[in-house]
Amino acid sequence: MLTVEQALQKILEAVSVLDAENVPIMETLGQVLAEDIVSTVTVPPLDNSSMDGYAVRSADTRGAAEKTPKTLKVIDTVIAGGISKKEVTPGTAIRIMTGAPIPPGADSVIQFENTDDAKNKDASLNQTPTQVNIFVAASPAQNIRRAGEDIAQGKTILKKGAVLRPAEIGLAASIGRSHLKVVQRPVVAVISTGDELTELGKPLPAGRIYDSNTYSIAALVKRYGCVPKILGIARDNEKDLLKKLKQAQDADMLLTTGGVSMGDYDMVKDIIARDGNMVFWKVKVKPGKPLAFGKINGRDKNGKPRSIPHLGLPGNAASCMVSFELFVRPALLKMMGKINVTKPTVSAIIEDSVKNNDGRRIYNRAVVEKRDGHYYARVSGPQGSGMITSMSQANALVIIPEENGGVKKGDTVQALMLDWNQEVNL
Ligand code: AMP
Ligand code: MG
Repeated sequence: MLTVEQALQKILEAVSVLDAENVPIMETLGQVLAEDIVSTVTVPPLDNSSMDGYAVRSADTRGAAEKTPKTLKVIDTVIAGGISKKEVTPGTAIRIMTGAPIPPGADSVIQFENTDDAKNKDASLNQTPTQVNIFVAASPAQNIRRAGEDIAQGKTILKKGAVLRPAEIGLAASIGRSHLKVVQRPVVAVISTGDELTELGKPLPAGRIYDSNTYSIAALVKRYGCVPKILGIARDNEKDLLKKLKQAQDADMLLTTGGVSMGDYDMVKDIIARDGNMVFWKVKVKPGKPLAFGKINGRDKNGKPRSIPHLGLPGNAASCMVSFELFVRPALLKMMGKINVTKPTVSAIIEDSVKNNDGRRIYNRAVVEKRDGHYYARVSGPQGSGMITSMSQANALVIIPEENGGVKKGDTVQALMLDWNQEVNL
């Protein structure tokens, strides 16, 4: 049986980065840039004011104080987006709003609060005062944002491979880009298997359960920036399963849940082995031992044959989610062009003793909290592999190594933080 690392390595080896496409900027959140972005403009384009106030010659304000104000003649008002045609000559000032270009002659901006215009701040523009008293001495360059101080024309502002977070989207927008070339989002077909499953919204017959895996798995697919293609429930017979598998043919990855353990009707793994290419079945991990990984035959958008990675996740509600975090997430991130596919992890002091004697690595659902500068982890409730409540109460998966028989209260363990994001572009 493979270790977690061996299984993950086999999965990562079998998937590759998807093609790039040109996409409207607002659709690219979380995607990976497939081009270098070079600025065609200068940001800001001109020297401009970072305050609402008066553009002045700093020399004119020398010695100004509350009791000895300097009086300047107001010759114009310039608003953001406008350009003053006047020049600030000795003894004059131009009223200026944040973002407006600095008029020629001025080398400094005095904010309204340091003038007797403070009370007029909201006055309409046609009531511009004819003179202003300045209460402080201005230093040269004060409250001026320099042209190009943020982005110089010709500069590479984002490199191929950058992950597009809100800041990168804003950065690209600040140079006017409406579309970006990004690695495609993987389309992930999701199939639940089981004769016992009932669709949401239908009454629950005796002995049946609702299909929750479709939704937890599709939500995970979405969370990591991919596109779920929900294909519904396949019953535990070959005909139904093959019919659903056919509908997954144009996806970039196929995820099934259930049908991979030792029961009489667990036929997912048998069908992968027969019709596709089974890479492995079973991993030394708890929960999630019965994980199957293989490739099924599919076709791309142009009808060209290709093989699709297929992870047969265990049916139990918590197991399939843990398996997704450990094995599916890294594969999807790789397909999206991401380099860092490891889950954010912290060292935490465990507050429960947990035995581990069967040679499998345990990933316990846990609550990790920071107290007095240390992370502490406690198990989030009963760990039965079908119990989704303790998954919902957890914010981490705590690793109980397969060696040493387990961990004792007070030991330091590694915790995978379920909701953390560590994507940074350096
Ligand atoms: P299996 O591996 O197919 O035997 O499934 C293992 C367990 O997971 C069984 O108790 C199933 O009832 C449960 N299970 C399988 N599929 C789902 C599903 N889609 N939603 C909720 N529970 C499921
Ligand atoms: Mg089943």
